Amino acid sequence: MMRLPEFSYLAPVSVGDAVKLMADHGPAAMFVAGGTDLYPNMKRRQFEPSVLIGLRGIRDMSGVRGSPKTGLTIGAGTSLTAASSHPDVAGHYAGLATAAGLVSSPQLRNMGTLGGNVCVDTRCNYYNQSYEWRKAVHFCMKKDGDICLVAPGSSRCWAVSSSDTAPMLWSLGAQVRLAGPRGERLIPVSAFYQDDGIQYLSKQPGEVVTDIVLPPSDGWRSVYLKLRRRGSFDFPVLGVAVALRMEGDIVREAAITLGAVASQPRPAPEAAALLAGQRLTPELIDAVADAAFKPGKPLDNTDLTHPYRKKMIRVFVARALRSLADGQPASTKRSNHLAVDEPASTDGSNHLSHGQHAEGHVEDQ
Ligand SMILES: Cc1cc2nc3c(=O)[nH]c(=O)nc-3n(C[C@H](O)[C@H](O)[C@H](O)COP(=O)(O)OP(=O)(O)OC[C@H]3O[C@@H](n4cnc5c(N)ncnc54)[C@H](O)[C@@H]3O)c2cc1C
Ligand code: SF4
Repeated sequence: MMRLPEFSYLAPVSVGDAVKLMADHGPAAMFVAGGTDLYPNMKRRQFEPSVLIGLRGIRDMSGVRGSPKTGLTIGAGTSLTAASSHPDVAGHYAGLATAAGLVSSPQLRNMGTLGGNVCVDTRCNYYNQSYEWRKAVHFCMKKDGDICLVAPGSSRCWAVSSSDTAPMLWSLGAQVRLAGPRGERLIPVSAFYQDDGIQYLSKQPGEVVTDIVLPPSDGWRSVYLKLRRRGSFDFPVLGVAVALRMEGDIVREAAITLGAVASQPRPAPEAAALLAGQRLTPELIDAVADAAFKPGKPLDNTDLTHPYRKKMIRVFVARALRSLADGQPASTKRSNHLAVDEPASTDGSNHLSHGQHAEGHVEDQ
């Protein structure tokens, strides 16, 4: 059995106190919210903080404020269950409700927070292992070692961004509010992530995420589709997050972001640009799916093979656009849940193999 190492737990009740405690303890300390990612990682000695600054007692960091008309502010400490089931999120930012609702398992979504999900550590087959396993392969540069075991000639780490909500928040044009020793700042989600498996956040170590800020829903529709091995719970090995602003049946603006294909969410702006001013015809959907396929370059360091994950980008982008084009009426919103468990196709094309799941739902906004 893996045990947690010893640590001190500090429980501030305000954002100011949390920031001060972090400044006092420096690199020895880490923030912890639900602990659903950090505690298992500490058991594997991927992180070894001697001080944890718990965020659960900070009431100001929890709950959903605002309205879809003016934009929503979701406290970073809001549980994934609460965020995904909030009526304004589920009704007007459907892709986010789906993404948050597909993270891990119900128990972990009750404990896990939206803030923890946007900050969640990057993943790699050579890193998400016990200390003894990692020691047996002489570690890697993300923790305790010097080289990358995936790309030994590389000077950087290629661990994979595996947050479900991050690509969706990117497509929705969300912002992240940070509080630190120098005060508060609000930055776009697209500036919050960096293309490096170790330094994957632009956040300073002393900064705490206090809120996720969503823009007005304003005619936007969104959908999130997730590829994972087990339908019950699993990290994404591909996430496709699409948001469209529609006027009638014409797309006015579009954003497509891929998750779990790189060390940060990977936008597909060229594919999205093809949609502007157009109707979602089958021909256009195929052309956009083709264009979105190009920027996704999954490496061979997570579950399922990387050629397969790459191939599924085209399939999932097309499915996401088709479901937005179909736009289900409000009364059937929740039932339009794509959970397919299809036998492997003989032509190797659009199908998942047995036991692999693709999930998501789409709602009109
Ligand atoms: C079995 C299993 C399956 C999982 N499946 C998925 C999955 O499918 N998809 C997925 O996205 N995740 C998955 N996770 C990871 C995790 O459960 C979620 O990402 C969860 O949202 C993390 O939130 P948390 O509040 O528990 O974060 P914590 O574990 O408390 O923290 C995670 C990281 O974020 C930092 N942090 C937390 N809150 C803040 C804040 N407000 N400001 C600054 N830093 C902060 C912590 O210091 C830590 O580095 C899984 C985990 C397990 C154990
Ligand atoms: S990508 Fe390389 S350095 Fe990064 S965790 Fe994997 S093996 Fe380690």
